[in-house]
Amino acid sequence: MIIRPELKTHFECQPMVIIISGPSGVGKGVIVKELLNKESKLAFSISAITRQRRNNEIEGKDYLFFSQEEFQKKIENNEFLEWAFVHGNYYGTLKSQVQNFLSYQYDVLLDIDVQGADKIKKLVPDSVSIFLLPPSWAELETRLKLRGTDDNCEINKRLNRAKEELSYFKNYDYWVINRTPEETVLCICQIINAERHKINRIKGDIFYD
Ligand code: 5GP
Repeated sequence: MIIRPELKTHFECQPMVIIISGPSGVGKGVIVKELLNKESKLAFSISAITRQRRNNEIEGKDYLFFSQEEFQKKIENNEFLEWAFVHGNYYGTLKSQVQNFLSYQYDVLLDIDVQGADKIKKLVPDSVSIFLLPPSWAELETRLKLRGTDDNCEINKRLNRAKEELSYFKNYDYWVINRTPEETVLCICQIINAERHKINRIKGDIFYD
């Protein structure tokens, strides 16, 4: 007699941490928003920062804004998974944000700089890191200027840092050139889909017990 095992039709996967980095002005904000609209099991980790809030930013949605003293307290209390000094301000990923979403089986998206990505990759080796590249240097400059959120001095600071950040792109798992949001979002969704199909992320066996 053949014993027919009950084959699973769906696999539960370990939720994953997805890192997106790229130079200021490359268009991460738009891409993150679109990805969250498209991927129902994806949540965004809201960073704690000490930078001044921009007019178009919403507290608790884009960032959590803190004074330097408050941020320092959080460092002392070990509340960060990682933190970094970026463009003259502190930026940090809160443990509570990431742990909460992972516990609800959501994949968690981090929009963080190259220093933060390096720290997270060491802490969470099976995290997925994606580096967004501009189509050209000229296009990056144009996007930063058109964004209209920073003055000339800040733009120059960000362009100088962009050169340095771009040199880190080979440390990432994936690269995507952000030509249009549609193309980029599609490409990142494909990366996420492929990562969700990795055998080592599956929980349990192929057969029902
Ligand atoms: P912006 O000031 O333009 O919003 O962000 C500046 C840079 O800080 C961006 O490259 C962004 O990815 C990075 N960033 C935002 N949140 C975090 C964070 O929690 N940790 C680290 N390391 N970088 C962050």
